[in-house]
Amino acid sequence: MIGPVLMQYGNAEQKARFLPRIVSADDYWCQGYSEPVSGSDLAALSLRAEKDGDGYMLNGSKIWTTVAHEADFMFLLVRTDTSGRKQEGVSFLLVDMNAPGLTVRPLPYMTGVHEFNQVFFEDVRTPANMLVGAEGQGWEIAKYLLEFERGGNFLSGRIRAALGRARRAAEWSGVWQDHNFRRRHADLEIRAETVAWTELRILDKAAKGGRPGASSSYIKLLGAEMNKDVTELAMQAAGYAGHWGNKSIANDLGPPSALNASDRYFNHRANSIMGGSNEIQRSIIAKQLLGL
Ligand SMILES: Cc1cc2nc3c(=O)[nH]c(=O)nc-3n(C[C@H](O)[C@H](O)[C@H](O)COP(=O)(O)OP(=O)(O)OC[C@H]3O[C@@H](n4cnc5c(N)ncnc54)[C@H](O)[C@@H]3O)c2cc1C
Repeated sequence: MIGPVLMQYGNAEQKARFLPRIVSADDYWCQGYSEPVSGSDLAALSLRAEKDGDGYMLNGSKIWTTVAHEADFMFLLVRTDTSGRKQEGVSFLLVDMNAPGLTVRPLPYMTGVHEFNQVFFEDVRTPANMLVGAEGQGWEIAKYLLEFERGGNFLSGRIRAALGRARRAAEWSGVWQDHNFRRRHADLEIRAETVAWTELRILDKAAKGGRPGASSSYIKLLGAEMNKDVTELAMQAAGYAGHWGNKSIANDLGPPSALNASDRYFNHRANSIMGGSNEIQRSIIAKQLLGL
């Protein structure tokens, strides 16, 4: 997500500092977009960044921040101006997660998994060279990033891997003999194929210097639905073994393909919300792809 943004909008210093460490996975990033009062209506965000000498002073809070407790840096949208249209006062900043005044509070899932957090900023300072693009350009950059977030996940590969797991688990449990199960499996294989072609079109565009555009919303929408369907299929295939996630006892309980099925099932229910809800994607498709 942040890689393409720095390539497009970052200055030479930011590119040299961050891009190689993204590729080598030395730096791990989290995304500070959502706030308690701004989700779908992202431009309503209110986390304040005020000029403070050669830097910015941040006050406010971000929520639903995946892996904030493990990340080295956050890219975030902040409000630097309250005077004009709400989109105009947004800027795009980078923050070191070890900065004084920054606190991360866990928000565990109902399954007990810890991925989400709320992040609080109390007089957190970030240097001026952590501003990406110009002040007030954040909204444009935010939308650019979302195209890569929604369209850059290599969804078809993940779905095919999940379908492979579901099939192996079904063969193990005997569900593969069920005609209806195999029909649903085949249906998902066909849908994965259609997504793969759309992804290849996006890759082709990117290779020629283009950007994903509204096709990314189409991928995001299909992905949310397919992830739900494929993890439901996997639950049916895995049976009781799907409730176990401990690989050390895997051989006694079921094959690796069946384990963790219930974790994945619950986790993927959130796909139609994260990264912009299905309703928001449908609106973008209607306006930008279909011209309605
Ligand atoms: C698993 C997961 C991980 C996430 N990780 C991150 C992260 O790392 N960083 C981050 O910043 N955020 C993250 N989020 C937050 C995510 O971006 C928001 O949840 C999402 O944008 C929706 O905002 P909201 O939850 O405030 O819901 P709301 O915006 O309050 O929406 C509530 C409901 O109203 C509907 N709705 C709202 N506006 C409209 C409209 N204009 N037209 C039609 N329907 C509408 C929505 O579709 C939804 O059904 C994550 C969310 C999830 C579930």
